Amino acid sequence: MALKERDLIINLLLRGGKRISILCYGGQGGGKKHRAGLLDLGYMLKMELAQSKRNTSSGTNHLVTAREWSPVWIHQKLRHNHRAYYLLIIYLDLAKRLSVEENLNDPNADDDQEQVGIFTVLSNALFQLERVCSNMEAELLAEKHLLFFLVKLIHYTGIYPDVEHCLECNSLLGEVKGGVDFRVEQGGFVCHSCQVESYSEWGHDIWSSLKGVASTSYSDIDQWKQNRVALPVLEIIYRYLGFHHNLRLPALQLAP
Ligand SMILES: [Zn+2]
Repeated sequence: MALKERDLIINLLLRGGKRISILCYGGQGGGKKHRAGLLDLGYMLKMELAQSKRNTSSGTNHLVTAREWSPVWIHQKLRHNHRAYYLLIIYLDLAKRLSVEENLNDPNADDDQEQVGIFTVLSNALFQLERVCSNMEAELLAEKHLLFFLVKLIHYTGIYPDVEHCLECNSLLGEVKGGVDFRVEQGGFVCHSCQVESYSEWGHDIWSSLKGVASTSYSDIDQWKQNRVALPVLEIIYRYLGFHHNLRLPALQLAP
């Protein structure tokens, strides 16, 4: 299949949270149909796929071709804020790494709702970014937005740690004195008495962030009290997400 300069292969995250690669002829815009600007990172699209000419017996997808596409939701202001655009790239990269490929030949594919959280979290996150960028008076608190994205992903993809009990002695973490420590690989927290080695100063912040964000709806992000989030807190939560989903994630880097 010969690709022309204006053709584009895109990764599309489906509503069910799985992903497909799609070939869009003339997807770069321009040309006879003047479809410029309809395909961009982070857009939500309605897409009509071309009937596939052959079904592969192995069940794996060959490249699917789009017949038509139209935008359902697009961002307009986000691209003019470089911190927001940087977040968009982090969000899309994580969603791509977390999602598995959809098998369009599988008749039961639609019933599988295990991954639906990835789509929900990503669409909420992008909507909130665009909302903040559209408000001239609002300051984008990029760390807070990233914290919400990471914690919501952890929550909706089934790897949310036990935030109520100490991993070792089972005592209630909300009642213990002297702080808690987070153990990334064991997936939980330990209380002050059970922590023998020196512990990280970020344990309590991670604990309260996980607890607080998981119980706050994405649309209430502005009301969430903690506006400043320390980078190490984000890095540890990001590492937790990667570890429990078996992902080799690149180092987390926010725009300056
Ligand atoms: Zn304990």
